[in-house]
Amino acid sequence: MVDMSHYEKAENLEKTQRITRMLHDKGIATEAEPGRINGGEDGVKDTGDLEGLLTTAEEAGEFVDTGIDFLAPAFGNVHGNYGGVENIRLDFERLEKIRAATKGKAQLVLHGTNTFPDATMQGCIKGGMTRCNVNDLVLHKYSKYVAENTGKVPLTELMGTGTDLIQELIEYQMDIMGSTGKA
Ligand SMILES: [Zn+2]
Repeated sequence: MVDMSHYEKAENLEKTQRITRMLHDKGIATEAEPGRINGGEDGVKDTGDLEGLLTTAEEAGEFVDTGIDFLAPAFGNVHGNYGGVENIRLDFERLEKIRAATKGKAQLVLHGTNTFPDATMQGCIKGGMTRCNVNDLVLHKYSKYVAENTGKVPLTELMGTGTDLIQELIEYQMDIMGSTGKA
């Protein structure tokens, strides 16, 4: 994935199309992100600007027309921290329209899943997400354990227990997403 969401839309589209052609020539799949919303420790505060950053069905259509294979839409999901589960407000109606505009052309992927409740994740999958990027959801136990135990237990134990904690959460999320046993 090449993330060019920090460029203006026209430039992002143009670069996306150029890079997509180049990568497809080499047999490499591409993923594009039309808008990007960053969270912070306190979540996204200024919701006034937020609307303009969300992906519209029209924009989604423009992006899939560049030939991309995967589209990561912004429909209320943010990168990083939401600053509390109450701040996770996804626009599923928007997602439905994006899905309709991209159907059969590109697959939808989900970014920004930190602290997602199980039902939210499942709602996203029902809404058309075929891949869900997870970071904190599978790492938070590991991060806490490592922060609390570094220098206190032997390195091999730190690595072993840390890996088990990641595996536990990955297995849990696989069950939530319905991907267990579907390798
Ligand atoms: Zn992203």
